[in-house]
Parts: sequence; C-alpha cells; structure tokens
Amino acid sequence: MTRNERIHALGYCRSCLNETYGLKLKQEDVLVYEFLGQCMKCGNTRHIVHRVKKYKIWKLMSSRKLGNEC
Ligand SMILES: [Zn+2]
Repeated sequence: MTRNERIHALGYCRSCLNETYGLKLKQEDVLVYEFLGQCMKCGNTRHIVHRVKKYKIWKLMSSRKLGNEC
C-alpha cells in the first residue's frame, strides 16, 4: 500500500492527518471529497482528505509513522 492509498483508507480530516502523522499538509496540498464527511479520527464533520496531490507526496515521506504502517 502506498502512502496515498493509506491516506485514502484512513478517512481523516486534514488536521487529524497532520496531528497523527506529524505532517504539514496545507489546504492546497490535498484533495478532499466534495461533500463533508465524518472524520474517522476526531468524529467531526469535516472535509475528508482522499489523497495528497502528486507533486506534494514528498511531504508524506517525512512521516516515519505513516511509512511504518504501510
Ligand atoms: Zn479529524
């Protein structure tokens, strides 16, 4: 599983991704679902991230934790 597939599977909002995996994803770095959904982490109704933009994937490489779970 690639890191981006992992992001997709998680169903987290951006702030939970950043917090959980020590990332620094900005709003423009990610693609979110068109409709609001429930974050699997915080349970809030948020824009759920389904992938990180291709040229921003390097930002995921800095997260060892995310890498270990792949
Ligand atoms: Zn969340």
